Amino acid sequence: HSHIHLKNLYKSYNGTQILKDLNLAIRKGEFVAIVGKSGCGKSTLLRLLSGLEKPTDGKILVDEKELMSINRQSCMMFQDGRLLPWKRVLENVELGLKGIHREEAMVVLRNVGLENRIHEWPSKLSGGQKQRVALARALIHNPSLLLLDEPLGALDAFTRLEMQSLIEDIWINQRFTTLLVTHDVEEAVALADRVILLKEGRIAHNVPIPLPRPRQ
Ligand code: ADP
Ligand code: ADP
Repeated sequence: HSHIHLKNLYKSYNGTQILKDLNLAIRKGEFVAIVGKSGCGKSTLLRLLSGLEKPTDGKILVDEKELMSINRQSCMMFQDGRLLPWKRVLENVELGLKGIHREEAMVVLRNVGLENRIHEWPSKLSGGQKQRVALARALIHNPSLLLLDEPLGALDAFTRLEMQSLIEDIWINQRFTTLLVTHDVEEAVALADRVILLKEGRIAHNVPIPLPRPRQ
């Protein structure tokens, strides 16, 4: 069975339909990219999957059960990282956890290549490093669903490529079901098993990407 299943999903704001009759099944461990013009509803779809917002109509099934409230198995990562400037890297990664989790935080920070910056303030980090912290903060929850909302959108081209390979390595090793929202079609094709094009709130294309690169 599928991990995530959208069934006749609709979302409206003030009577305006933003998402219209989405039907989509995502397998466990699949990496799906969602592309489309600004305003087509990509972020709205991620917020529905995170349970932060409710569908206007239709259903979201997670492991065949209807998603009713905040999806605690999911973690979201945003374009702007959303680090707390008054907390150091390590404490930013532990946010959202109860208590102190030094060992786990160290492990995820090592996995994103930041083991040498754990006591740094966010303001001292480069854009790419900040996004590494944001990624670590998502990974520490060991989410079964990773929701990435334009995580590389604000980075320069070189840093973006570095972060792409980091995200790919992490996905290869840990196989979280991953949804990546991006307006960069090349990034989508580089990372995803499947690219979904949203157009005017509907799925206009649903394209499997053949694998030219070695994966385990
Ligand atoms: P994308 O992520 O593809 O750029 P969004 O999902 O952010 O698109 O937004 C889709 C449309 O829904 C936009 O027209 C946006 O203004 C509108 N929208 C998003 N969230 C809200 C909201 N909370 N209230 C009203 N309109 C919203
Ligand atoms: P993103 O850049 O990730 O697409 P947005 O800037 O579209 O995000 O939206 C950021 C926040 O603003 C979201 O919580 C969204 O619901 C809200 N929002 C977006 N568009 C509108 C709108 N037209 N009216 C009210 N809230 C909106």
